[in-house]
Amino acid sequence: MAQIIDGKALAKQVREEIKAETEEMEAKHGIVPGLAVILVGNDPGSEVYVRNKKNDCEKVGFYSEVIHLPEETSADTILEHIRKLNATEAIDGILVQMPLPGHLDAPSILNTIRPHKDVDGLHPVNMGRLLSGQPCMAPCTPKGVMRMLDSIGCEIEGKRAVVVGRSVLVGKPIAMMLLARNATVTMCHSRTRNLPEICAEADILVAATGRAEMIDENYVKEGAVVIDVGISRMGKKLTGDVAYERVADKAGWITPVPGGVGPMTRAMLLVNTMQAAKLRVG
Ligand code: NDP
Repeated sequence: MAQIIDGKALAKQVREEIKAETEEMEAKHGIVPGLAVILVGNDPGSEVYVRNKKNDCEKVGFYSEVIHLPEETSADTILEHIRKLNATEAIDGILVQMPLPGHLDAPSILNTIRPHKDVDGLHPVNMGRLLSGQPCMAPCTPKGVMRMLDSIGCEIEGKRAVVVGRSVLVGKPIAMMLLARNATVTMCHSRTRNLPEICAEADILVAATGRAEMIDENYVKEGAVVIDVGISRMGKKLTGDVAYERVADKAGWITPVPGGVGPMTRAMLLVNTMQAAKLRVG
């Protein structure tokens, strides 16, 4: 039976570390990290995410503000807010909650955030730095996945890693980070042939497709570490890409959904905001 990688408990530990660092920063430099979140429209899911992010900031002693704009807000108005936040010293991190309403072009909005305040790690400068192995603001979900692997002492170097899903937000950066740690990485997607066979070769299997429970025991090597990034709603229940019960019998380690990668993604936003604040204090 697989051991569980408890994302909720690990995220709590990360928050405690960040809280201690915040107190030290305040005592030494008289500042605390600041995060601004821009939310456009009234998508109920996005409202919950933004509220959670604000609560997380409060728990660790960060300054935070939410700029909630109406659905019909123009791109120019949003850009104006971003430029102002770019120039505001007390704000270390700027996050635009996705998805944006249909009339807005997300890339042009995200690209206006100064790269060192881009705590979501989505600016092309940060993506490019990640690709070329330079210090960067890495996206939160991939960073959380790596932290989970490290938390169990998972040796990455030389291991076969398979990432299912190739999105810019999740799959690609996870693959890059595993590669940077000397794993032998295979990226899979919807056009991949023989997916179960490829996955079953993995020592580390990361599922990030959004296809509920598609990864069953046939995709998993005995003893593998299985990281489930996916989140799907099945009726009232949240489920991942992994058929948890069936895979848990075979894997060595597994992340649950909920309580796995999700809480770590939130915790990594705090880590990135702290990283940005450290630049401010030099
Ligand atoms: P996208 O829809 O952008 O990407 C999904 C990827 O999965 C694509 O590359 C797609 O392939 C691939 N895919 C889809 N179906 C299959 C299939 N049958 N076989 C193999 N590959 C397939 O999603 P995201 O990357 O943004 O998110 C993935 C999941 O992770 C979602 O459930 C999302 O909710 C969740 N998520 C969870 C987070 C967390 O904190 N836990 C954070 C972010 C996302 P192709 O490119 O060929 O279309």
